[in-house]
Amino acid sequence: MEVLVFAHEPALHLAAFAAVLAVMALWEVLGPRRARSLTRGRRWPANIGIVVLNTALVRLLLPTAAVGVALSAETHGWGLLNHDGLASWAAIAVGVVLLDLVIYLQHVMFHAVPVLWRLHRMHHADLDIDVTTGARFHPVEIVLSMLIKFAAIAALGVPAAAVVLFEVLLNATSMFNHANVRIPPAFDAALRWLVVTPDMHRVHHSLERDETNSNFGFNLPLWDRLFGTYRAQPRAGHEAMTIGIPDFRDPAACNTLTGMLAIPFHGERARRAPLEPHHESR
Ligand SMILES: [Zn+2]
Ligand SMILES: [Zn+2]
Repeated sequence: MEVLVFAHEPALHLAAFAAVLAVMALWEVLGPRRARSLTRGRRWPANIGIVVLNTALVRLLLPTAAVGVALSAETHGWGLLNHDGLASWAAIAVGVVLLDLVIYLQHVMFHAVPVLWRLHRMHHADLDIDVTTGARFHPVEIVLSMLIKFAAIAALGVPAAAVVLFEVLLNATSMFNHANVRIPPAFDAALRWLVVTPDMHRVHHSLERDETNSNFGFNLPLWDRLFGTYRAQPRAGHEAMTIGIPDFRDPAACNTLTGMLAIPFHGERARRAPLEPHHESR
């Protein structure tokens, strides 16, 4: 069974991605949270394009993938969890939670270190936020974060099953918490103790700098509450808040494939174009 899952891992990922994308996109049509500031037609081709590019790049550069690192660690007995005699289900659970902590800390670091922020700001430059934003990352950030994850898996000895589970989970929750979907406030308040909700992560995509530097979690909301980076709601409210970052306001730079790939390389005089908060029809 395990061998079967690992052998079909790429197909499993693709199927999970397509299924979650379809469900969240439908939910966005049926129960949207905000009016869109740009149409899907102006954002989706580049956001989906970057996913295709990243997937091809990772398969080419790092063909063994994270599962390969986990299997090597198991074979060679590397890492904490391969030593301490934990039951395998416990090692899987601890492995998933520790990987989520690593991703949280990595996200904080990508905001704090200027050269890393140049890469990560491509994710934030999306002029609107929806399910496709959840998979929109610069290829160099993707490769760097894969290498960080490989190191974490080897050092912690995360079981291969935990790696597969975490990657599928992270993919799904990232698309869920970027989605433009309406969840009743009372339900959201309860749900966000368990998992990062769309209203919680949207705060992180606010144009306001202090709001951008909050709610770094992708799966578990625990880390933000624990490390004091939690912010419940955007000051302006979810309907009126502006999405994006101040230096990049031109759709030609923020929402085209070539523009997005160039975002890390702009100097101080970044591309600014007056994008008044206007609303195109959906
Ligand atoms: Zn961020
Ligand atoms: Zn995000």
